[in-house]
Amino acid sequence: MEVSVLRLGHRFVRDDRITTHVALVSRALGASTIYMTEVDESIKETIAKVGNNWGGESDFSIEIVQDWKSVIFNWKKNSGKVIHLTMYGINIDDAINELYGLTKALVIIGAQKVPREVYSLADYNIAIGNQPHSEIGALSVFLDRIFRGNELKKNFRGGRLRIIPNNRGKYVKEANDTDIA
Ligand code: SAM
Repeated sequence: MEVSVLRLGHRFVRDDRITTHVALVSRALGASTIYMTEVDESIKETIAKVGNNWGGESDFSIEIVQDWKSVIFNWKKNSGKVIHLTMYGINIDDAINELYGLTKALVIIGAQKVPREVYSLADYNIAIGNQPHSEIGALSVFLDRIFRGNELKKNFRGGRLRIIPNNRGKYVKEANDTDIA
């Protein structure tokens, strides 16, 4: 399934780290694109550096958009479904079997309260439980559920460095197989 993320809003300065983390989670947990509104262009450079080090550079992109409604309309025009994550939605467990059948999903999350019309533009309003928490938490759980945990085994091709998983500490090699302390 192709999954992209649309993140609405950004509170200047206060949200800088959260914005970076939303992009990092999208990249690491299997989304192919994140569309963001109101953010600084420097986010692209930050995430490009991560891809340069850890791979998967060509598998993930960031698009900064002004007109978020066009992203939704274009997505729907291209046979994609729109899933809005909100504490007011239906529990993910009650929709997951239907969501597994989708081929293209655009996941909307908000930096704060989202415009009312997002609820009606969405094909699904999905809650990761009906308590308030965070867009990073909601997105992480959603991606893990939709990909059934397989996203954690994704191969990020290329990159300068790779981790050799280790229970005792950090073991990192360069792409040419040289050990790094
Ligand atoms: N009251 C807000 C709401 O509408 O969900 C909480 C805003 S929260 C600071 C920012 C974003 O986190 C929301 O726009 C939503 O995408 C996500 N979020 C927070 N709690 C959630 C939950 N329980 N289920 C799904 N998404 C959630």
